[in-house]
Formats: sequence, structure tokens, C-alpha cells
Amino acid sequence: MKQHFQIINDPRFRLVYNEHRLFGTGPAPRKIRLNREGFTMVPGVKKKTMVYPGMLLAEHPSLEKGDLHAPMYGVITEINARSVFVEAVDPQEQAPGTFPDPLEPVNLLKDGLEGEELVLAVKKMGVNTRSLGRRIRTLIVNGLNPEPGIRWAEPMLVEHAAEIRAGLELQRRFGRAEEIMLAVPTGCNVQFEGVRTVHVDPMYPNSVNELMIKEVTGMEAPPDVAAVGLHNVWSLGRTALTGLPLMETVITMGTAREWANYVVKNGSIVGELLEFTHISLKSGDTILRGGPLRGESLDRLDRSITKGSYGFFVVNAGEVPPIEGDSPCINCGACIQICPTRIDPRMLSRYAEFGRYDMSRKENFRLCIDCGLCGYVCIARRPVLQYIRLAVKKLEQEERLSQLTPIEPVSKA
Ligand code: SF4
Ligand code: SF4
Repeated sequence: MKQHFQIINDPRFRLVYNEHRLFGTGPAPRKIRLNREGFTMVPGVKKKTMVYPGMLLAEHPSLEKGDLHAPMYGVITEINARSVFVEAVDPQEQAPGTFPDPLEPVNLLKDGLEGEELVLAVKKMGVNTRSLGRRIRTLIVNGLNPEPGIRWAEPMLVEHAAEIRAGLELQRRFGRAEEIMLAVPTGCNVQFEGVRTVHVDPMYPNSVNELMIKEVTGMEAPPDVAAVGLHNVWSLGRTALTGLPLMETVITMGTAREWANYVVKNGSIVGELLEFTHISLKSGDTILRGGPLRGESLDRLDRSITKGSYGFFVVNAGEVPPIEGDSPCINCGACIQICPTRIDPRMLSRYAEFGRYDMSRKENFRLCIDCGLCGYVCIARRPVLQYIRLAVKKLEQEERLSQLTPIEPVSKA
């Protein structure tokens, strides 16, 4: 992979802010929307079911994906193919017996569970894990802010040290790696017992896992090294400390001028978060779930903060030139020059634009690490990253379908 710092020496790409503001608590939701794509609803959970904090709503077939739990008292108002909607209710106003007693905490750290048994227990508590399915030499916990504008990593390492310590202990007990390292920005002095701290130049895109691994090991894609985000370690630790299923996520929320870090309920609705932060939308503003560089723009105020989301931003009209879906490529080559994995974002985006997803295979679409730099430098303001994500999604869907066993034709004899 290329070295970027000759190309990007822009202070806006620095991933440290030297600020340690306290984490706020997000609003008590009036309504939530939980993503259920790929999940199977638990039998009996349907429209009008009364739900309580930590109640299991749906399970995911993958060991890596945490199951889905209700993060509050409420009633299910709708279930469709993509989402479960819940409206809050006050448990004090319900008839006695409407809800069971609060869940008994489960102490994951004292149960003596280890290895894949512990991974399964954690999945059942709603946490996404990265079950590597093989032993590796080194697991690197990526302690950098994931992208410019996201600011929770530095304060999390200090203020939420208990969660990080517990999350690291669970990672150790998963038993996947001989050694766990914590990669933090150069100059950061945090230490956690039993974990070697390594320092990385905090310039984007070093926070992308693949590049972080290269920074730490000096090797491209070494087979016995993997990385996991600090956000995920926090989720593990949160579950370990509360003993309850994961019901929250940490996000940086705001605009380019005003922002704060919050712990918010999974499924919090965008419209309610805007109200909570007193951000009023103006014509032409863009709402992003994720960060300013790689975030996904949302078209409706009833979209929500999904599990694992790390940011929520409003980009005010005029701050950056808008992306134009039908803007033609002018062949300037800037995206090719900046791409850290040496693929051709120009051609990949064109193939996706014209529905030639099959051609993306020739361009090694799998090497894309979703860093977003191609879209950032595109002077034609093409949605380069979005086109590439579309191609990746379509090709993965195609591959999943081709792996399904064909149904035998029914004999008419
Ligand atoms: S997002 Fe763009 S620049 Fe980044 S790896 Fe993918 S194609 Fe290359
Ligand atoms: S940066 Fe934009 S305009 Fe330039 S080659 Fe890439 S896609 Fe085309």
C-alpha cells in the first residue's frame, strides 16, 4: 500500500484533538428503529408485543453478529423486512405483570467461559464480534478515531478505561491471538495491563484497519495479524460491566463547529437526536450516519443510529461542494493517485454507474478498504465511494446466491 503522507498533509486529516470532554448521555427515546436485516424474529415477537430493556427480539445466524435486543420499555408498532419500530411506554403506567422483573445481570468475566463458547455468549448479549475462526499471532486493537471529525477515541481510553479494560479481558479470553496490542496515537500514554501499547502516526487513513496493521507491523496484509476497533472493545466491556445485553453505542454527534460525544440508545431516531442537540436543518444540509468522510447520507428523519454506528453529523449546505450523482468523470486520475490499495476507483465507479458490476472483478474491487479518499479528491464531485459500495454489495449478493444449492426440479413422473 502507498505511503500517503506525501499526498495528504492536511491538518483536517489529523485524528487527534487533545480534548477530553465528558461523554454525555443521549436522549431517552420516544421511538426507536432497530435494523433487523438478516435477523430472524424470536417466535411470538410481533406487532403490539410489549418489550423491556434487554429483551431478545431477534437472532442472527452468524456467530459474528450480535443478536437484537430492545433497549427500552415500549410496544412494537411495526415490523417490516428491514426494521423493528418500538414506541416508548412508561412501565409505571402499565397494568401489573405487563413486564417481567428486570433482567438478572450475567457476569461474563466470572463465568469461566473462554474461546468460542465465550464468543457465543457475547453474541447472545448483542455484541458483534469478529470470530476469526483461526488462531492468529497478533490482534491489534485500533485505538485511533476511525476518521476525521470523530472524536471519542482519546477520551474513551481515559474516561471509559474500565470498559476498555473489561473488553480487552474478553478479547484475551476469546483466545484467538497469542498477543493483543493496543495501537494509539503517537504521544498518547495510556497503558492497560497485559497489553502492549504501540504508537501510530495519527493521520488519516492510518485508522483504517488494513493500514493500521501495516503501520504497526511494516507488512501488507500479514496472514497472522488482525485488527479490531476500539468501539467494538468498548461494546464488549460495556456488556461485561453491566451484565446486560448491549443497548447503547458511542457516537460523536454535531456539526463541523459544534459537537460532543454521547452514549445513545441503539435505534435512536435521527429526528429526535437533532431535536436533542438543537440542530435545525436548513435546505441543502446533509445528514450523515458515520463520519464526515465515510458516512452514509440519510434521506429521512426517521432513520436511526444502528448498533456500532460511531457518528452522526450534519454537514451544512455550502460547507463542501455537494456530490452529484450524474456528474461525469473527467479522467483527472486524482482518485487513482490517492487510492492506498492501488486499485482504479475511476473505472470501478464507472462500472457501477452503468450496472456493469461483473467488470468490477477485473479491477480487484475486493481490495477496496472503504477509506473514502477517492471521493474526497474527486473534483467532479462524483459519488465514487458510494458507487464502489454499490458494486461490492451487488457482487457479494451475487456470490451468496451462487453458493445456494439449486432446488432440484420436481419429477412429473
Ligand atoms: S475507498 Fe476509494 S481510495 Fe479508498 S481503497 Fe477504496 S477505491 Fe481506493
Ligand atoms: S477523481 Fe473523479 S473525475 Fe478524477 S478520475 Fe477519479 S472519478 Fe474521474
